[in-house]
Amino acid sequence: MNAIDEKLQPILSTVLHRNAGEPEFHQAAREVLESLGRVIARKPEYSDEALIERICEPERQIIFRVPWVDDNNQVQINRGFRVQFNSALGPYKGGIRFHPSVNLGIIKFLGFEQIFKNALTGLPIGGGKGGSDFDPKGKSDREIMRYCQSFMVELHRHIGEYVDVPAGDIGVGAREIGYMFGMYKRLNNRFEAGVLTGKGLVYGGSRARKEATGFGTAFFLRSMLGVKEIELEGRCCVVSGSGNVAIYAMEKLISFGAKVVACSDSNGYIVDDNGIDLDLVKQIKEVKRGRIKDYVALRRDGSHYVENGSIWDVPCELALPCATQNELHGSDAKKLIENGVIAVAEGANMPSTPEAVRLFQSAGVLFAPGKAANAGGVATSALEMQQNASRDSWSAAKTESRLEEIMINIHDSCHDTAEEYGVPGDYVLGANIAGFERVADAMRAMGVI
Ligand code: GLU
Repeated sequence: MNAIDEKLQPILSTVLHRNAGEPEFHQAAREVLESLGRVIARKPEYSDEALIERICEPERQIIFRVPWVDDNNQVQINRGFRVQFNSALGPYKGGIRFHPSVNLGIIKFLGFEQIFKNALTGLPIGGGKGGSDFDPKGKSDREIMRYCQSFMVELHRHIGEYVDVPAGDIGVGAREIGYMFGMYKRLNNRFEAGVLTGKGLVYGGSRARKEATGFGTAFFLRSMLGVKEIELEGRCCVVSGSGNVAIYAMEKLISFGAKVVACSDSNGYIVDDNGIDLDLVKQIKEVKRGRIKDYVALRRDGSHYVENGSIWDVPCELALPCATQNELHGSDAKKLIENGVIAVAEGANMPSTPEAVRLFQSAGVLFAPGKAANAGGVATSALEMQQNASRDSWSAAKTESRLEEIMINIHDSCHDTAEEYGVPGDYVLGANIAGFERVADAMRAMGVI
């Protein structure tokens, strides 16, 4: 573990004490506090421990019961969460995750990361996150609809265009957002397009939103390699996951001339030495909502499936963890380094463990943390809010070029901040500090609230 400045140690102790049993939140808070020692040592205006402690304490945490009736007419109960972490820069903004692993600590870690990520976009959005321990796997479309409706029956009173604007995350895509939006509209009797993002195109969604997180990660990676004058073309890539983020990261990498040889889902991974056939992956995951192992049976040759192994055993030059938190461990990092990895860009939120990050950084592997490299999704959500507010709908070209520009700016601000603080190339520190300074500036201006 890296050292934490002694002035910030009491804040970490408070975080651990107040949030007992929430290891992911501790991990995320510790990483940011590790970076902030340099800020308080250099800039007296930020040397305000009470302000840093306020950033670590959510403004509001909501936990609610979500009752629903399954297809067998049985009543089921799940738990819903919304953590409204910080609204200094704008309405709370962040996704909703449906996954059995969801608990308050997971939502808090995601909400905390979201504060800095959203600040890095330079757009007026605060940080929040929500979710439920509901498992969408194997549920019928009607069950999903009833679940989303019941979830919104409670959530609707806590959100709004100027209050809190949820979107999707793992297990929540355009279908779920549609069901939630429908219920919100009915409960409030108003077509408030800006209350949710990730909507379908015909009722206020944005072009390029679905692709945005993955595209953004590839844009960030391109900029990071560009500093070292390394081309993406011809590079061998491994991308974990096969959801929205992974699919569109692969699409952009392929369009840059890179070769993606492996991707995965929660059961296993596929390797295709001829390069992953993305249309086939889309067909399996987006259309059929199937499993990645189906790929091998549908593809002619050159591919195989590995169940229960680590995708990071597959040699590559560029690794993009795009599945979930703590999916890439120290042992995986060692393997990747041994196999000659050049750069790692996180499409998921906090997918590398602290040990893995340290190993990459000390081996000189370029490392882009999720809160910077995956900010393209939420940035495009903010563009969707802009389009809703002006009752406009931008072309795909305009939206994507705004996204590209935003990702280049995020890269540059992380890069330049790391340099300013005397640790060139440390994108973790650059992202944490650049995000923090924006939030802290706004909070200082507003007084102790
Ligand atoms: N769930 C995404 C994230 O982790 C997007 C959030 C949003 O668009 O509000 O940033």
